[in-house]
Amino acid sequence: MVIDAHLDIGWNAISDGRGFLQPPVPGYLVSRQSLVAAGIGLVFATLYTAPARAGRSMRTRFVYENAHEANLMATAQVNYYRSCGLELIRDRAALAAYARGWRKGRLAAMLLMEGADPIETPAQLGAWTDRGVRIVGPAWGATRYSGGTGAPGGLTELGLQLLKAMRRKKVILDLSHMADDSVRDAFVTWRGPIMASHSNARAIVPGDRQVTDETVAEIARRGGMVGVSFYQKHLRSSGRATLEDVVQHIVHHARAAGSAEHVGLGTDLDGGFDARQAPIDSLARLKELPARLRLHFNRAQVEGIMGGNWLAFLERSLPA
Ligand SMILES: [Zn+2]
Repeated sequence: MVIDAHLDIGWNAISDGRGFLQPPVPGYLVSRQSLVAAGIGLVFATLYTAPARAGRSMRTRFVYENAHEANLMATAQVNYYRSCGLELIRDRAALAAYARGWRKGRLAAMLLMEGADPIETPAQLGAWTDRGVRIVGPAWGATRYSGGTGAPGGLTELGLQLLKAMRRKKVILDLSHMADDSVRDAFVTWRGPIMASHSNARAIVPGDRQVTDETVAEIARRGGMVGVSFYQKHLRSSGRATLEDVVQHIVHHARAAGSAEHVGLGTDLDGGFDARQAPIDSLARLKELPARLRLHFNRAQVEGIMGGNWLAFLERSLPA
């Protein structure tokens, strides 16, 4: 089973009308049908919300001005996933049963909130875990909780409270998009499961959106995971990205982590970019990745990178 740890399915459907149950719109890659055909059995489906200040660069009017609006937008995405009949994995037992019975054609999801502003106060986290949210990334740009991409800063007082609530509710922390200072704060205060759903190597593509080797090493030391993004701007500083760039980031992360067991996929495909900015023009081409990875890793390691590593991480990180 291939696992993709970052897809903005709800956002694409609601903000842009690219419904998950239809075939992909020309120029885009992700739909239920294309994921299933590519052998993907589990996706981390996001609740992504765009703050008003990002509306222009995101070319969307689907933005929030305040936490309550963010809540309503993320709620719409939870309801969208429900309307698609997407099975949500909530605990270890459900994951084990799903993985055991998996065959090609089946698709389930983990709910991942990208940017925590929809959680109006840390006390409201339980309402989100009740709806199935199991992973929270406090940042996108800056949020009320954390510094983010292009917006330096640490965890705020509210952010520290959110992390406490996440620990109580056994929620996994997603570091992707967190500013360096907030990553440092998280390493000091957080003792729960940790990952970066879609973060490439800063050593290859400079910039705060990518993670440092030190961050990858610390995530690995804590038994966490890093997913490699397929967005061209995350793969190379300039020029057209190919699957070879994806391989380079995976190899780099595995070296920084000290082992291939902490690396997986978090493609982010169609999340704010189309197929022209992806290294593949069809999800079917994902099948070419294992052979390319085999030049650097053994068979078991490649299976791990394609999905097994995320599965093992979830088995040790989800609530019982
Ligand atoms: Zn993102």
